[in-house]
Amino acid sequence: MISKILIANRGEIALRVLRACKELGIPTVAVHSTADSDAMHVRLADESVCIGPPPSRESYLNIHQIVAACEITGADAVHPGYGFLSENAKFADILDAHGITFIGPTAEHIRIMGDKITAKQTAQELGIPVVPGSDGEVKPENALEVARKIGFPVLIKATAGGGGRGMKVAKTEEELEEAVSTARSEALAAFGNDAVYMEKYLGKPRHIEIQVVGDGEGNAIHLGERDCSLQRRHQKVWEEANSPALNVEQRMKIGQICADAMKKLKYRGAGTVEFLYENGEFYFIEMNTRLQVEHPITEAITGIDLVHEQIRVASGGGLSVKQEDITFEGHAIECRINAEDPRTFVPSPGTITHFHAPGGLGVRVDSGAYAGYKIPPYYDSLIGKLIVHGRTRVECMMRLRRVLDEFVVDGIKTTLPLFQDLVANQDIANGEYDIHWLENYLAKTSV
Ligand code: ADP
Repeated sequence: MISKILIANRGEIALRVLRACKELGIPTVAVHSTADSDAMHVRLADESVCIGPPPSRESYLNIHQIVAACEITGADAVHPGYGFLSENAKFADILDAHGITFIGPTAEHIRIMGDKITAKQTAQELGIPVVPGSDGEVKPENALEVARKIGFPVLIKATAGGGGRGMKVAKTEEELEEAVSTARSEALAAFGNDAVYMEKYLGKPRHIEIQVVGDGEGNAIHLGERDCSLQRRHQKVWEEANSPALNVEQRMKIGQICADAMKKLKYRGAGTVEFLYENGEFYFIEMNTRLQVEHPITEAITGIDLVHEQIRVASGGGLSVKQEDITFEGHAIECRINAEDPRTFVPSPGTITHFHAPGGLGVRVDSGAYAGYKIPPYYDSLIGKLIVHGRTRVECMMRLRRVLDEFVVDGIKTTLPLFQDLVANQDIANGEYDIHWLENYLAKTSV
């Protein structure tokens, strides 16, 4: 059904998608900016097209250039990866109008989940538990009344939100007015939309998300959860599957709620339902209608290739597995290796002089980096992901410790030393952390 896939992305995820296409015997087209001519995804693809200068707006976000690249190469499907155009409903519509398959959900589902108020209302209608909060948008005039009903502390969030922007906590009535007005102006500046809503602010939650896949016809399954509580500035740093905080019953219960919701929605493709988890309760915060950065830990414990499933479903071939076929084997951890100073997190682009990826049983490195590769300064600083799998969490941690010592990236600074510290930490060993743990730890250990 699909004869050639254009991968509208760069870096490790472009390579990840390319590998799945190769396994399925589908020819690939890489696109790249002038800054990425030497990138690994370009080298390994069957064909490549330069789509513009370094700034993303003029290349990886340039819809016209990408459609033109499809037409030139005869690609009849596009995999968007994550970020860039992956959650852009207009892009999905335009591809559709050109008869090109978007490997992802319908534009309508992207739109529903892209607006946080609509997403939350939809989740609630589908039977997913949500964070107590306002019914829709909150205006400065009614903010106090709504906040009193919810109870302090409250969180003001941007409807168009993303990346933690336009989010402000008000602990007391006195702080409310300013929190609302700052959130609104931040939201306007970041998203061109100042609409905000309000939620109960949870004090010490974990971030737990459920992986789902649907065929668009009403069949959907869940692939368990990932615990992504270790975050810095709302960016995930270390992820685990399964969560150290859940038992089998809790996993299967919340997983089934999400799978049932996706069946009702007739959701197509891979998606992630994100929750905060506190005192045994789940609270929906958002749904991402794409492949996530941290998807390999789910693949490690289920043995299912999520990109294969995405491509199968997009070409009308349905899911390759049923819920009852899925088992969760062992434990997996992912570390996001960024080209950044491990203390200050200042980006460290430049040339990698030596690169040695670790190996051995249960080790996966998803990276487009190699010795001699020059990391361009224009894009995000993720240069690779290290994924380690073990039969138990203890074995996984032992393996991670060994593997981190083996990983060599010279010539630039990376966050590898941070992971060496984390893998040796007692709270991490115990699995005892919430969404604030890492920032508190970094504040304590910074010099
Ligand atoms: P964004 O799309 O901007 O990333 P999310 O809704 O996904 O926004 O929230 C990002 C992060 O903000 C969460 O992972 C969590 O750390 C924090 N957060 C969001 N909602 C709440 C809440 N109600 N209480 C406490 N923290 C929250």
